[in-house]
This record gives sequence, structure tokens and C-alpha cells, in this order.
Amino acid sequence: MTSDIKSMYEEELAEELRAMGEPAYRARQIYQWLHTGVKSFDEMTNISKALRKKLVDRYYISSAAIEKKLVSDYDDTKKYLFSFRDGEMVESVLMKYHHGYTSCISTQAGCKMGCTFCATGQSGFSRNLTASEMLAQLQAEQQDNAIRISNVVLMGMGEPLDNYDNVLRFLRLVSSEDGMNIGMRHISLSTCGIVPKIYELAELKLQLTLSVSLHAPNDEIRSRTMPVNRKYNIGQLLEACRYYTDVTGRRISFEYAMIDGINDSDQCAAELAKRLRGIISHVNLIPVNAVDGTGYIKSKKDRIQSFIKILGQHGVTATVRRTLGSDINASCGQLRRASQSPETKGENPE
Ligand code: SAH
Ligand code: SF4
Repeated sequence: MTSDIKSMYEEELAEELRAMGEPAYRARQIYQWLHTGVKSFDEMTNISKALRKKLVDRYYISSAAIEKKLVSDYDDTKKYLFSFRDGEMVESVLMKYHHGYTSCISTQAGCKMGCTFCATGQSGFSRNLTASEMLAQLQAEQQDNAIRISNVVLMGMGEPLDNYDNVLRFLRLVSSEDGMNIGMRHISLSTCGIVPKIYELAELKLQLTLSVSLHAPNDEIRSRTMPVNRKYNIGQLLEACRYYTDVTGRRISFEYAMIDGINDSDQCAAELAKRLRGIISHVNLIPVNAVDGTGYIKSKKDRIQSFIKILGQHGVTATVRRTLGSDINASCGQLRRASQSPETKGENPE
């Protein structure tokens, strides 16, 4: 059995190489190669053949193979379906903004949380991704487009805080100087609200942006659409968010998918504003992406405007998220689901 070399910290690699009788600087060379996205040890041209052979015997290099790619006609958004060495598949979306490229990557194959509006949540959970598989998604996109990614959002398939250790490892690797060197300020992590992990994350005082998927102003609506709320309710979640902003000084961004007739009334807006009082925050309203079988449709434009107005009157800033790649269903989970079910195979909805 070979082990996953790209998930190792540089110090861990140095330790193992030392045990193999190799000088410390070799670890740095190998680490740097791994983080450029090489797929084989033979590409490491400044490493001797003899050492490359030893490495092949002990380790494997994770990579993400492109199974499918959809390119938006409207903007430069690209959506990828990647597969890993065991055949598991995840989605990732590459977006071009004026400040550079942002990649939205997956942290799990599937998700256990079962949110009723989410394609990933509806298709079940397969397994956690390793740190190297998160890196591999970025590296495959960089290579496919000959670009450098400057920003990363953990908003693809899966719940990052349900894969806490691997996600933290990824965050440390991706931001390392000898690695991809993407600073924490350029990284966002989105969670459905795994409360104890928000407290743990707060203690680390990382400079990343925390996004919390709220999607409802009260427990009644939230528990109906997000089963996680039955374990950690809104009161507990917002208390954790308050703690997070107090400890880190970082503003939290709340995601709120606007679903017609479910969570988009003026009363919901007023209730939401009241609940967010005292938390340094920003609300991102996202017209819900219709997912087959859920029956949900996006809120009407005037409903969204009225919602924003009411939040504003209560001192809560909100914006409607610009939807990139709307023609390729850039919200995660839909592509993998289509490739799983034969009747919708190859379909590109919308
Ligand atoms: N599990 C994490 C991150 C992945 S989901 C989380 O839930 O935050 C990324 C974001 O997409 C979340 O805010 C999620 O609520 C939202 N989302 C999922 N399905 C959606 C849909 N059909 N329309 C709009 N947003 C959706
Ligand atoms: Fe999982 Fe996030 Fe989808 Fe909920 S919205 S099912 S937490 S991926």
C-alpha cells in the first residue's frame, strides 16, 4: 500500500525523507513539485532516478481527472466533473472575476446533511475527500486553462466542517509558501452550521472568510429545509457566529437562498434582521437554483427587492449574488447527479 504524499505537510515529508537517508532540502524540492500539480515522480527532473524509484514504491500522487467540462456561453465560468483514483466523482467550478480566478471546490463526495433544496444533499454521501484531492481540483483547473487561481471557496459538494481534519490540512497546505501560496484572506469556507466546529475554528483565528448557510429566519422553516437545524438550532448557530466574529474580528457572510413561498416573505425578512442584530455580518441572497424533484422555484425579482429593503431598514446589508454560469447549472451537485442517474445522463438542464 502506498501513501498519499500530497496530503503531507512539508515537515512530515522532511521527516520521512530523513528516515530514508535523504538531505532535508530534498523534501522542499519534492514538496514544490507536488504543489505545481505534477502527476508522476518522473516529472521531478531535479530528483535522482534512484530516489524517484523509492518514492514510487512508497507513495502515490493524487490527481483529479476531467470526466466532463461545461463552459458557459455567457461568461468564462467552467464547471468540471472530476474523478479520483477510486472512481469517486466531484464537481468544481472555475470563475473568472476582474481580480483573477476563483475556484469553488468540493470537500466531500456527496454530503450527509440532506438539505432539501440541494442536489448534493439529495444524492447521498460517499466519502470524505483527502486534502490532496482538494488541491488536485485546483491544480487540474490551473493546468487545463494555463492560469493561476488566486481565490478558493469551499462551497462545492460536501460540508467542509463535517470533514474538519482534512479541510484544515488542505487550508494549511494550499496557503503554504512552498505550496500554492494562496493566503487565507483569499479563501472562504461555507458551512451549513456544525456548531461545535465553528467554535473550534474560531480558536485558530485563521484569516479566512466564514460563510454560514442560513436560508431561514426561524427554526420551523429551517428544520424543514435543513435537517442539521434539528441538531443545532438557529439560536445555537447564531451564538457560535457571534463568538466567531468576536474572537476573529472577521465579518461573517450569511447565505440565504430565496425560495418562492417558503422563506421570502416580508415577515421572514424582518425576523431575519432581528436575529442578526449585533453580529458583524453581510447577507448574500441567492435566488434558489431549481433542482429536479425538489419542487422549489426561485423567488420573484420584486420579492427579493422587498426583502433587501426590509433588511436595510433594520440595518442589515444584503446583496443579491451575481449568478455566474447560470446556463451550465454552476451550483454544485447537479452535474454529478446527472452522471449517476441513467435517465438524465448527459443532460444539461436549463
Ligand atoms: N455544505 C456547505 C457548502 C456547500 S453548499 C454549505 O451548505 O454551506 C454551497 C452553498 O450552496 C450553500 O450556501 C448551500 O446552501 C447553497 N445551495 C445548495 N443548493 C442550492 C440551490 N439549489 N440553490 C441555491 N443555493 C444552493
Ligand atoms: Fe450538504 Fe451544503 Fe448541500 Fe446542505 S447545502 S446538503 S450541507 S452540500
